[in-house]
Amino acid sequence: FVNNTDEFYKYCEENEVEFVDFRFTDIKGAWHHVTYRNHAVSAEMLENGLPFDGSSIDAWQPIDKSDMILKPDVETAFLDPFTADSTIVVICDVYDIYKGQMYEKCPRSIAKNALKYLDEANIGDVAYFGPENEFFVFDNVEFRDDINSAYYKVDTEEGGWNSDTKYEYGNMAHRPGTKGGYFPTMPTDSMVDLRAEMMLIMEEIGLEVVLGHHEVAQGQGEIGIKFGTLVEAADNVQKYKYVVKMVAHLNGKTATFMPKPLYGDNGNGMHVHQSIWKDGKNMFYAPGEYGNLSKTALDYLSGIFKHSDAVAAITNPSTNSYKRLLPGFEAPSILTYSSQNRSAACRIPYGASEPAVRIETRFPDSTACPYLAFAALLMAGIDGIKKGGYPIVGPMDEDLFELSLDEIREKKIPQMPHTLREAVEGLIADNDFLKPVFTEEFITTYQHYQFERQIWPDEGRPTAYEYITTY
Ligand code: GLN
Ligand code: MG
Ligand code: MG
Ligand code: MG
Repeated sequence: FVNNTDEFYKYCEENEVEFVDFRFTDIKGAWHHVTYRNHAVSAEMLENGLPFDGSSIDAWQPIDKSDMILKPDVETAFLDPFTADSTIVVICDVYDIYKGQMYEKCPRSIAKNALKYLDEANIGDVAYFGPENEFFVFDNVEFRDDINSAYYKVDTEEGGWNSDTKYEYGNMAHRPGTKGGYFPTMPTDSMVDLRAEMMLIMEEIGLEVVLGHHEVAQGQGEIGIKFGTLVEAADNVQKYKYVVKMVAHLNGKTATFMPKPLYGDNGNGMHVHQSIWKDGKNMFYAPGEYGNLSKTALDYLSGIFKHSDAVAAITNPSTNSYKRLLPGFEAPSILTYSSQNRSAACRIPYGASEPAVRIETRFPDSTACPYLAFAALLMAGIDGIKKGGYPIVGPMDEDLFELSLDEIREKKIPQMPHTLREAVEGLIADNDFLKPVFTEEFITTYQHYQFERQIWPDEGRPTAYEYITTY
C-alpha cells in the first residue's frame, strides 16, 4: 500500500491505473465518490484538493455556498476490487474554502479532531476502536416471501408474534429457525461461500480479516476485522460495508445493515470495542480489579452512560435503531456493565490480559456514521474521565433480560432511550461534552436533519401492525 504521494504514483503505474476515485462520507455515513481520469490528477490536486458541489449532499451546504474542496488522504489508497477498469480509491476529508479550515460537517475531520482532543487533554495518545458490523443477506428476486407469509399468518391469527409457531410453517429443513443461525454448518448456513468471497476481497483492499460466521438470525452474518485507531477503524467500516454490499449485489442478493429488519429475530448491531493508550500503555488495564479494568476505564464508561441519550442520537441514529434495542435479542438497553454478560449495554470481555483489556459497548448499530459514532463515544468517555467518573450501576452479572420493567425501575438502573425522538431531544439538552469537536452549527443541523428525515416522517406513518391493533 501507499505512504506518500511518490508511492501513490508508483502504485498507480504498477497497477496500470486508469481512474482515480475520490471518496468521502456524509453525516449519515454514506460514501460518495467522483472519478477522475488518471492523467487529469495533478500533484497539485493531491496536495491542495479538488472542488465539488457540497449543496447536493444531505444537510451540508446551501446552494449559494456550494463550492467545497475534497482533500485526498493518499495513505488510504486501495484498488477498487469491483471496477472493470483499474481504479484506485482515495478517501478524502472535506475542506471549507469560505472559512479556510476543515469542514465542520465532515465526519472524518471531526473524528480526527476527537483524537487530537484526547491527546491535548493529556489522557491518551491513541484510542483503539474495534467495531463489529452485523448484516443480513436477502434474496433479491423473491423477497423472502415464505417468511413474510409466516409473519402474516401469525400476526392475523394470534394478534401478535409467537416464537414457537412462527416457523412451524413451510419447509424448514435447510433453514435456520428463529435464533437458530448461531452456528450450524452447511447446508443450514447457506452463506459460507458468500462470506468467504467477502473475506478474501476485504483482505485484498487491506483489511485484516480474522473470522467470519453466521449470526443468530436467519440470513445474518458477521465478519471480524482487526481493530485500529479511531480514524482507521472508521475508514475500515466504510470499506467493510462497501465489500459486503457489493459482493451480495454481484451474487444477485442484497445486503443490509439495518438494525432490525425482521420482527421477532435478532437485529444487526455494531458493537464497539474501545481502549485508550498512553506512552505504549493500556490505560484501561488494572490487574486484579473486576475484569482487569482500571478506574480510568470505568470513568470513561460512566461518561458514555451519563450522556447516553445524546450519544445514542449519533450511535443509533435511525428510528429503526430502537426496534433492535429491546430485551431478548442480545442488543442491550440497560446501562450497566458486566464481564461475559451480553445483556448489559457494556460487556468486559472475560479474562483479557493487558493488551486486550477493553470495553465493548453493545448498543451502537451500523446506521451510525462510524466517524461520528466513534468520536461521540470518545468525547463522552473523555468527559467521564475529566469529571473523575459519574455514578454508575454495576457490575451486574445476572441475565438482565429477565428483569421486569418494575425491577429495572426499582433498582434505578438507567436505560438507553427508547426512540430516536428521545435520543435527539437528549442531544439538544446535553451536548457540551461534544462541543470541543462538534460545533454548534453541526449539532443544530444534525438534530433538524433527524427530525425532518426520520422522526416526523416515521411518526406520521401508519404501520402494518396498527391495522391489527385497531378495531
Ligand atoms: N445481533 C446482536 C445485536 O444486535 C448481537 C449478537 C452477537 O454478536 N452475539 O447486537
Ligand atoms: Mg462478534
Ligand atoms: Mg455478533
Ligand atoms: Mg461483540
